[in-house]
Amino acid sequence: MKDLKHLYYFEQLLEDANNDLVRQAKAEGKLALGYTCFHMPEVLLNLDNCFSVRLRAPNMGSMEVATYYMCNGSCEYSRALLERALEGNYKFLDALCGVDLCEAMNRCMENMELLKIHDTENSKFFYTNTDVAYTDDEISVKHTVEQLRRKVLDKLRDNYGVDTSDEALRKAVKEHNEVCRLITEIGNFRKLEIPNITGYEFAVITLATYVCPKYLIIDKLRETLEELKTRKPDDKLKQRVKVVVVGSEIDDPELIDLIEDNGALVVADRFCYGSFPGRQEIILNDDEDVLTQICRQYLSWTECPRHCDPKRVEHRYDFVKQLVNDFHADGVIYEQMKFCTYWSYERTLASYVMNEEYKIPTLSIDRPYRAGNSGQLRTRIQAFVENIEIKKIKAKQKKEESK
Ligand code: SF4
Ligand code: SF4
Repeated sequence: MKDLKHLYYFEQLLEDANNDLVRQAKAEGKLALGYTCFHMPEVLLNLDNCFSVRLRAPNMGSMEVATYYMCNGSCEYSRALLERALEGNYKFLDALCGVDLCEAMNRCMENMELLKIHDTENSKFFYTNTDVAYTDDEISVKHTVEQLRRKVLDKLRDNYGVDTSDEALRKAVKEHNEVCRLITEIGNFRKLEIPNITGYEFAVITLATYVCPKYLIIDKLRETLEELKTRKPDDKLKQRVKVVVVGSEIDDPELIDLIEDNGALVVADRFCYGSFPGRQEIILNDDEDVLTQICRQYLSWTECPRHCDPKRVEHRYDFVKQLVNDFHADGVIYEQMKFCTYWSYERTLASYVMNEEYKIPTLSIDRPYRAGNSGQLRTRIQAFVENIEIKKIKAKQKKEESK
């Protein structure tokens, strides 16, 4: 396939947390708000003159200092962020909006605050940590509204004079929805028999929307969508099978590249920093206050294993099955960041349920934060691809014999 015109541009934006567009927005007087998790509704951090930056640790080398402050049993994502923070990579932030979700991220945020990783000359800077509900019932919605109003919106208003009115929220939702629509339309090309976009390309584009001010990237997204409408796919699929990738944070497209390099095209991204969930449009009515509507939708969309109510667990299995069907995948790869407790449970159970009950070939892997060069992962993915191929051949033979 011909290269996508803006792919290199998007790739460059992923090279540094404080990338060119972040610097441009800051120079225009905008406020950069850092966050790490889906449970902090991104749209709230794009209110008025604010823009959200989902934190990553590009070019992370060693994690020795972060390991000293935390421990080597903390997930590598949280340690990688702390390491980069200590190196001064997030000094451009005007606030850091955390969620009380897992022990590892709590320790990471706590250390960032204690060690003052922010620009100490900014007296308005604030750290905040909101409590997150375990399920999506109406009591949980109310609790989330209270937390986000008090610990995020009010702080933005009081510290920086940000307009947090319903009108401003509606404007932010409108802008957010346009990005979601574009990403969804771009992602839908992965449903084609021979997709004209790779999983790697889609991951790069989607990630760029999480780490850049959206108003500075929207034109390139629109152009990319137009380009895809006429982009010719290869004559034949380069990979031997198609897969859905499911799991925790993947903020490094190299992992997707590694999977595709070893024979499995990634056609759907059910992981944090992907598009399911994260790039759904927020639908607002005129009757209820906007924050409540936003919180209700985020709580119903989350695919996080922190939601351990049985109906939510069931919902997650069904959702993966739906993605397999919608995107014509042959199997699923469940991935887990090393030492992540929530995903270690989820991946272990789900890989059994998917294989045995849903009859969907499923591979279960854990991985380091930077996984692009893992020889062990290569071998496991190659074996999985072969396994699916053998199953497909056997199913075909059985079908022909029964004719
Ligand atoms: S796995 Fe859960 S806690 Fe971790 S980033 Fe995703 S939504 Fe947040
Ligand atoms: S990967 Fe797991 S342990 Fe690490 S921050 Fe995400 S949810 Fe927490």
